[in-house]
Amino acid sequence: MVFDSLQGIDLHVHSTASDGTYAPFEILATAQEMGLKAISITDHDTLSGTKEALQLASSFSVSVLSGVEISAKPPPYMKNIKGSLHILGYGFDVENSPLSETLSEFQQIRKKRMFQILQKLQQIGFSISLEDLSTPNESIGRPHIAQKMVEKGFASSINIAFDLYLGKNKPAYVDKYRLPVKDVISLIRDAGGVPVLAHPGLLHIEDPIEYRTIFKCLANEGLLGIEALYPLHSSDQLQFFLKLAQEHHLLITGGSDFHGDIKPDILLGSGNGSFFVPYSLFENLVRNIHTS
Ligand code: AMP
Ligand code: ZN
Ligand code: FE
Ligand code: FE
Repeated sequence: MVFDSLQGIDLHVHSTASDGTYAPFEILATAQEMGLKAISITDHDTLSGTKEALQLASSFSVSVLSGVEISAKPPPYMKNIKGSLHILGYGFDVENSPLSETLSEFQQIRKKRMFQILQKLQQIGFSISLEDLSTPNESIGRPHIAQKMVEKGFASSINIAFDLYLGKNKPAYVDKYRLPVKDVISLIRDAGGVPVLAHPGLLHIEDPIEYRTIFKCLANEGLLGIEALYPLHSSDQLQFFLKLAQEHHLLITGGSDFHGDIKPDILLGSGNGSFFVPYSLFENLVRNIHTS
């Protein structure tokens, strides 16, 4: 049906439970207003936003799938990947104990890391306390610090705060604790979910052969999908990732990586304006969750 192909979804959305600025209710209301047919709230290391969205779903004409985004350590042989692999999980049981317990540990580790970053900022002369940042139910991260730095006049924008102080190799950077990617994939699969590599274009690998190898290795580790549709992917990248997904029998997903006011250039559902993820990808994903 032609009409169906015009119905959009967004499977990569951050809420106030992590570093987004809109609550799950507001995200659902906006999604409905925009005519989106399905969303997944994929907060960093927490299920509280996704659980809230699932509870609210029946009041909206938008389907909701459980989601999460977890940063993982690449295997040592993927030596050209400098940062983390971001693994999205979809359709898992939100009450699964090993997943919930691991994410609770991550919350504690995140708090410690934030404290260390704040100590480094203090040494530079910027005074922010952990209490300034934390609110209940939040998976606290560097964007919260960046926001506070802007509020206090220590940086003129969130991007500048990252570029000058909080980004990798900058004076207040502290490395993030990450599980090996194999463990993250297992954690999601054992909870009944589908693990998906988020925004592969952000890995900035130059050599197409190396991308092929990475996808092949991750598929061998149990990865089931890739987020080929992402606002920052060029059309060449999109075509390339669609081809690789087909070669390695991976599902295709897509999402905007909406964070609200923290990333004001990225809109829910439509990303940079022209971004669109068809509902058929959601149907295919759900079919595979129920059969996996
Ligand atoms: P954390 O979980 O504390 O490592 O923070 C990761 C978050 O910071 C992600 O949601 C990114 O979108 C955001 N982030 C990372 N680098 C930058 C940057 N250079 N400018 C703005 N946001 C960034
Ligand atoms: Zn984020
Ligand atoms: Fe990410
Ligand atoms: Fe994200």
